[in-house]
Amino acid sequence: MYDDFKFILAYCSLFDHIDVVMHELSIAQSIVDLASEKVKEAEAERVISITLSLGLLSGVVRESLEFCFPIACEKTPCEGATLKIDVVPANAHCASCGGDFDMEEFVLVCPDCGFFPVELLSGGELKVISLEVE
Ligand SMILES: [Zn+2]
Repeated sequence: MYDDFKFILAYCSLFDHIDVVMHELSIAQSIVDLASEKVKEAEAERVISITLSLGLLSGVVRESLEFCFPIACEKTPCEGATLKIDVVPANAHCASCGGDFDMEEFVLVCPDCGFFPVELLSGGELKVISLEVE
């Protein structure tokens, strides 16, 4: 019984991990695709660096993205490129009491008046800000 329980836990954590990595890998691939297209447009040869703006509440795990990025870059003009990540803090605005506040978690409830849902002003983004090519 105990062994079965352990097995299920191990299976779940492995599954969650794979799921998370797959998510970031597909994001890394989208970034690499975009950068590779821009290299062509600029008639350059390769990407030197990519700067991303990553919202704290974007749902993307920075460490996983950094882990997946070189894998996605293999055999593309992005191979060897540096990934720079600017983490953007999350801010929200409450339409009921007019308050602005920082958010640590994706909970859209105003901490002052309890209004739901507050509007996320920043922190949900995942954007390529700049590309350095040569
Ligand atoms: Zn409020």
